[in-house]
This record gives sequence, structure tokens and C-alpha cells, in this order.
Amino acid sequence: MMLTNLKKFLIITAGTIGFLLTISFLFVKSNSFFSRSLLEERVITIDPGHGGIDSGSSHAGVTEKDITLAISKVIAAELEKHGASVILTRTDDTDLWNEVSIEDEINYTKREYQEDLELGRSIDPRDKGIALGNRRPPTYRLGLRARLLKAEANKSDILISIHTNHFRSESAKGAVTLYQPHSLYSQRLAIAIQNQLNSLLPGRNAPGIIADDFFILRRSKIPTVIIEIGFVSNKHDREFMLSDEGQQAIANAIARGIEEYFKGL
Ligand SMILES: [Zn+2]
Repeated sequence: MMLTNLKKFLIITAGTIGFLLTISFLFVKSNSFFSRSLLEERVITIDPGHGGIDSGSSHAGVTEKDITLAISKVIAAELEKHGASVILTRTDDTDLWNEVSIEDEINYTKREYQEDLELGRSIDPRDKGIALGNRRPPTYRLGLRARLLKAEANKSDILISIHTNHFRSESAKGAVTLYQPHSLYSQRLAIAIQNQLNSLLPGRNAPGIIADDFFILRRSKIPTVIIEIGFVSNKHDREFMLSDEGQQAIANAIARGIEEYFKGL
């Protein structure tokens, strides 16, 4: 009797342990599968703003082009960890101005101007001037065009341009995400990212997304946002953006935001 009970007990215990192990294995497996799948097979272009001759804004010896490159590399690593394939438009201190010729830029602009006319879109006076030959494309525009072409050539799902903000008053602080007014997907992406950044780098104007017509937003054919991570002119933002912990926290927040965006598609 004793022996039978012991046998029963052992069988039940072994069975229970086996069952629990199987369940926890499946749980861990499905969980990691779930968290990876949202970014897996996604192609994401990260654009570290400015570079080379173009330093962007600067304050207290800190330049925008250096911060954007450092943070973009951490963001890229974080996204890759989640299975995304990431393209950086630059990996060193270069402005990309010599990657597109003036002639090519004029031709791109002519084509876009024609398209704007046909589709009845509002015409940007700068684009019109270049298309009609009354205006020479500014050199920095060649670098911006090069960034767009890289995102398109790699068939990216989204393009994220990383910048920092600057203001004459040191009290201005916090993250802001700019989106393409003509693209609902760009707006959704901006909301998803800004939702994650709000608690990390709070600003004064929640919710912190703004429609804008900067060249890269105006001309990108894929959902694109510009993230102004924080104010280089604000002590807290600047120190946060320069620290390893801050950069990792920013990268985590942006990766979560991008995941949320893809989840909602
Ligand atoms: Zn900038």
C-alpha cells in the first residue's frame, strides 16, 4: 500500500513537473517569438542628422551632428537586436553633399514639380524655383537628397531622421517629433514614438508632434519622421543625450515606439 502510494506520488510529481516545464518552455518561446516578430523583416533607415561641414546646432562645445550620430548607432543596434534590418545613412562624420550632383537634383526636382502639378498638390516655392531654373539647389539639399535615395534604394518601410533641438532660452526642453502632413502613416509613427519619448524627455507642449514641410518630410515617399530628441541648449536634455544610459533609454523608447507603430498597421 505504502509503495503504491509512493509510486503514485512520484508519477504525479514527475508528470506535473514535466507539464510545467513544457508550459513554461512554450510560454518563453512564444513570448520571444512575439516580441521579435514585429520588427523582424522590417527595413528601417535611420538618418543621423547633419554631419561633415554641416554641424547643425551647437551649445557648450557640443554639436548636433555628433550627438545624432552617437544616438543613431545605439538606436540601430537596438532595432537589430529585435530582428530589424537597419540602414544608417551615414556612419561617420560626413555631410553626403557629394553623393548627388546639382544636375541630378534639378532633374529630381523637375519630376517632383511635374507630379505636384498633376496631382494638384500645393507647390513649395523653393521646389518651383529650382524646377523652372530660377533657383540653384542649395548644397545641403544634395546631402538630404542622398539620404532619401538611400532609404528608397533599400526599400525601407520607414525613415527616421534624428536631430536635436536648440533654443535661445535654456529652459526649453523635451522631445518633439515632426511628421509629413500628407501621410497618415507618418503621423501614426510620430504619435507612437512621441508617446514613448514623452515620459523620458518631457517638453512643455504635449503631445509633441508637429506637421512640417522640411525637405526630407516633403519629398520622402515612405512614412518618415524627424525626431528632435531633446534641446542641446538645455542642461538636462544635453547631459541625458550625451550619457550612455540616456542614449540607451532613448533607443529603447524609439524601438518601442516603432514596434507599436507596426503593431497598429
Ligand atoms: Zn538638425
